[in-house]
Amino acid sequence: MARALLALAALVGSFSASASPPATPPPAPAPAAKADTFDGKVVPLAEALKKLGAKPDTDTAGVALVTADGTVFTMVKDEKTRLLFLDKQLHNRDIRLTAKVLPGTRVLHVEKVQTVKGGKVFDVDYWCENCQLEATEPGPCKCCGGETILREQPAK
Ligand SMILES: [Zn+2]
Repeated sequence: MARALLALAALVGSFSASASPPATPPPAPAPAAKADTFDGKVVPLAEALKKLGAKPDTDTAGVALVTADGTVFTMVKDEKTRLLFLDKQLHNRDIRLTAKVLPGTRVLHVEKVQTVKGGKVFDVDYWCENCQLEATEPGPCKCCGGETILREQPAK
């Protein structure tokens, strides 16, 4: 009996010894996820939700990216994505978003918005011919107040 206890103690001892390896660094925070590309069509969020059987209020705000497999992503509205919320010309078209998925969500934090036509990728901005000035979102030119047009240039 005593012998058994002794053996057990030795066992426990060896366990606790191995349980505290020397100077293990604390687990590093997960490395920042790499941005990925997401291809799909940008549509008003209400439209995407209706297709899933929901009956959202007609004033439901925002847009969503619906990918080819039907996955619906919403996105952070900021200076990168504002054009998608404001410009209906970009709705129901092939769009490529370079983005990170915010952890635990299907919300995209977008780094780049591009259009896709015939398999080619285009960078997008709003151009004032008068001032030869570009802007990141639609609306009157910040310089002359004139009209800006959606400009798509082959991605470099
Ligand atoms: Zn201008």
